[in-house]
Amino acid sequence: MPVSMEELVRLCKARGFVYPSAEIYGGFRSTYDYGPLGVLMARNVKDAWWRSMVQLRREVVGLDAAVLSSPRIWEASGHLKNFTDPLVDCLSCKQRWRADELPLAPKRPAPGAPEPAEEMVPTCPNCRGQDFTDARPFNLMFKTFVGPLEDEGAVAYLRPETAQGHFVNFANVLQSEHLVPPFGTAQIGKSFRNEITPGNFVFRTREFEQMELEYYVPPADASRWFDYWCSERFDWYVRYGIPREMLRLRHHAEEELSHYSAATVDVEFAFPWGWGELEGIANRTDYDLKAHAAASGQVLEYFDSATGQRYVPYVIEPAAGVARAMMAFLIAGYTTDEVAGEQRTSLRLHPRIAPYQVAVLPLSKKENLSSFALEVLAVLQPVVMCDYDDTRSIGRRYRRQDEIGTPLCVTVDFDSLEDKAVTIRDRDSTQQERVPVDRLVEAVTSRLAW
Ligand code: ATP
Repeated sequence: MPVSMEELVRLCKARGFVYPSAEIYGGFRSTYDYGPLGVLMARNVKDAWWRSMVQLRREVVGLDAAVLSSPRIWEASGHLKNFTDPLVDCLSCKQRWRADELPLAPKRPAPGAPEPAEEMVPTCPNCRGQDFTDARPFNLMFKTFVGPLEDEGAVAYLRPETAQGHFVNFANVLQSEHLVPPFGTAQIGKSFRNEITPGNFVFRTREFEQMELEYYVPPADASRWFDYWCSERFDWYVRYGIPREMLRLRHHAEEELSHYSAATVDVEFAFPWGWGELEGIANRTDYDLKAHAAASGQVLEYFDSATGQRYVPYVIEPAAGVARAMMAFLIAGYTTDEVAGEQRTSLRLHPRIAPYQVAVLPLSKKENLSSFALEVLAVLQPVVMCDYDDTRSIGRRYRRQDEIGTPLCVTVDFDSLEDKAVTIRDRDSTQQERVPVDRLVEAVTSRLAW
């Protein structure tokens, strides 16, 4: 059965994935904190991204640019002028909304007016009102001041995307790395957008983490690389456990494109409320490098010493969000089934994404068993992330590990003291197998199919 949003939010809080921020003060404007399991899972999502984008490639290098950034960057990139959403106020309840996200409902006739032809019009989700102010552009960037004076000369912005940090370092990276297009820079970090209507749990928040690759290519090859990254990124979600039928690629129509983009495709996921974007892949052309070159007076080109040619590369950008990927993995992995006549909930997370790969469970808290179980834990800890739980009945401990997605449980019982062997239990099949401790690391890693 697909998980509902209520159940997902409940599970995330109860099991320590995601908590509402400042909850003891009644929460704070759709901000969230990541709990013990949430940080492990988010770290795994980022590691899986980094592994496929940087570690397994020859031509991609890492970068970590500043969050606090110069207004000159955002002036040159066009964000000060263009990074806006259309804002409207409902004339009945005064709530503010993004005009392009208002749901449509049949138009209500004015009192006494004849029944109109069925017409769908934007409708306030709060009071069902259908009259709004004219839309006005609202800039999504968070403005702040650097230093003690709050004057215009001290203005800085929290970056709304990590991308510009790549472009302003283009010449630095080229100079230090001697790369030849196609090559890329990869970055993971926080971005901030003053979203008008955050919501759907961590899907849309004002502070969020992005994973962005800027891939520099010869202009003539841009559309080929664009197609390559669309299929590569689609496959990444499949590789880490999302069924193909829960994903789709959606091409942006002309009027939907951002000011810098020649083509954009979204990787979308079937969220409980409908299709939603996990990641955008854009052909940013040479827009950004040319804009920064013009504004800074610096040369931002590639010089091909073999042919003597200079050119400004085109940029293909796959830009993903950590929280949205996490949500998708949780939703796709959520499973209910029956084990030994009992209903159970499990998260069938890929072993690289699951918060813990292994839970070590001594059958009892007795001193001699605990000390042996801790030895087993010490054997596994350098290799995988382990949980250790010696509370409650073994059945309830299995249920907990299933519900937080731990692929393997290692149970230590009284026979273990004699035969120096433990039982490995598989989350999905619930099958158990006895394994000698001196072959445990091998047995665990082969089962996790890294
Ligand atoms: P949307 O259309 O949903 O506002 P976007 O197209 O503006 O998103 P991009 O600028 O392409 O988003 O950013 C790349 C990725 O960063 C998105 O695909 C998403 O995963 C993530 N992201 C963007 N905005 C948010 C947000 N407010 N909260 C959480 N993640 C976000």
